[in-house]
Amino acid sequence: MHKLLTLIAATSLALLPNTPLAAQSASRATLVRAGRLLDPRTGNVLAPAAVLIEDGKIKQIGAQISAPNGAKIVDLGSATLLPGLIDSHAHLFLNIVIPPDEERKRHLNAFFAPADLLAIVESPTKRAFVGAQNAREDLESGITAVRILGHSGIDGDTELRDAINAGRVTGPRILAAGRKLITRGDYLQNLNPALADAIMQQEFLFIDGADRARAAVRQNVFQNVDVIKVTASENMTVVELTAAIEEAHRQHLKVAVHAAEKAAIQTAIDAGADSIEHGNEATDEQLRQMRDKGIFLDLTPTAYGGFFLKIMEPSIVVSAETRSARAESSARRDKEYDQLVQRVLKSGVKFAAGTDMCWWYPGKTCGEASVATLLNLRLAGMRALDVIRAITVNAAEMLGWQDKIGAIEPGKFADLVAVAGDPVTDVTELERVRFVMKNGEVVRNDLAFQSSLRGGPGNKPTRQD
Ligand SMILES: [Zn+2]
Repeated sequence: MHKLLTLIAATSLALLPNTPLAAQSASRATLVRAGRLLDPRTGNVLAPAAVLIEDGKIKQIGAQISAPNGAKIVDLGSATLLPGLIDSHAHLFLNIVIPPDEERKRHLNAFFAPADLLAIVESPTKRAFVGAQNAREDLESGITAVRILGHSGIDGDTELRDAINAGRVTGPRILAAGRKLITRGDYLQNLNPALADAIMQQEFLFIDGADRARAAVRQNVFQNVDVIKVTASENMTVVELTAAIEEAHRQHLKVAVHAAEKAAIQTAIDAGADSIEHGNEATDEQLRQMRDKGIFLDLTPTAYGGFFLKIMEPSIVVSAETRSARAESSARRDKEYDQLVQRVLKSGVKFAAGTDMCWWYPGKTCGEASVATLLNLRLAGMRALDVIRAITVNAAEMLGWQDKIGAIEPGKFADLVAVAGDPVTDVTELERVRFVMKNGEVVRNDLAFQSSLRGGPGNKPTRQD
C-alpha cells in the first residue's frame, strides 16, 4: 500500500513537465537572451547571457548561443536573469482580514483564529478559488514555486497542485502539505464542544500519542501530499514528533516543523525535523545543533517593519492604545529579528525563507505582498545575495528539489525571472519583476513587447503595469 502510494506520488512528480500547456511547446526550442545572468549559488554574473530551453528544461547556458532552426527568441535587452523565486512557507488558502480591537479581545489567538474558523466552515469551493487567485498572483510576481504548509482544508493544496500541473489553472509549482499535524489546544479555541472535532478535522490532524502521529502521516500520504507539516507547541512530546518524522521519512517525505519558541525548537531538533519554520527564539546553541544535524532554518520575516499596523489601518479603526502597543512591540521584535539574522549567518546553519503569507494586504496582490515580505530579510541586515540565495538555491535544497529548481543550470526546469536593474545592488528590483517564465512558458513579459509580438500569443503579457 505504502509503496504503491509512493509510486503514485513519484509518478505525479515525474509528470510535472508533461502538462498540456508544456506539451504544446515541447517540440519548440526557446532562446532567452539578456544583458546579464546572476548565479545565486556563486554570485557570478554572466554578461551577456543566453539560455536555450527545450521541452520546458534548460539545455544550455552561454554568453552567445545561436538559435536552433525554428526556435522562439525572447530578447530581454539589458535585463538581469535569475532563477524563479521560491516561497518555502505559504498558506494560499487563507486571506485573513485582521478583526478590530473589540473582536480580538474575545478570542485567544485573535489575529488569526476568527478568520481561520470562517475559512474552514465556509464553502470549500469558495476557498479553492481564493487559493487559485493567490497562486496566479504569486506566479505573476515571479514566485515560480510555493510550498504550502497547511490551512488548505483537507485537499485544497493537493488539488490546486494537480490542477496547475494539468494546465487547468495558472500558478507556480506547488509542494502541498495537506493537513497540519497538531496537538489538541492549538489554533482554534472556544468552539462549540458538540462540533469542535468536526470543525477541527477539516483543517488539522491531531497527534495525541505516537500511534496517532503515524496514522496522521499516513492519512496525509493517502491524500498524496509532498511534505508533512507539524506544529510543535509545548504540548507536543519528542516521542510524538519523532514517530511522525520516522513515518514521514519511511514514506520519503520531508517534515517541516513550526517551532517559534525555545522549548518547541528543542523538541524539533531532538526529533530530527528536516526544517524548522520561524525559529524566532532559537538560541546560539540550538543554531549550532541545527547546523550539526543539517536541519534547515526557514526564516519567516512576516511581521517585520510594522506589518500588522500596515494591514490593519486601511480596514479598521485602530485605537490609540493598540497603535502604540503595536508600534512598541513591532520595534522590539524588529530588533530581535535583526539579531536572529546575524546569529543565523554567523552560525553556519542552512537557511531558506518563506512568507507565512495568509493575510489580506491592502493595495498589493498576494504575490506583491509575498515578495515584499521576503525582502524584509534585507532590512533585517542580510546581504542581498544571501536574501536571493534564501529564496532560490537554498530553498530548492530545503524542499528536496535541488535537481529541479532554484538555479539556472542545464537539466533544471526553465523557471526564470528577469529584472531591469541589478538585484545584488538593489534587491527591491525583485519587487519589480519584468519577466516570468515557468516550465519554459512565458507567463509575463514587460520587457520585450516587440519580440513577444514576433514570438506569438504565448508571449503576451498577462498583466501590464
Ligand atoms: Zn505558517
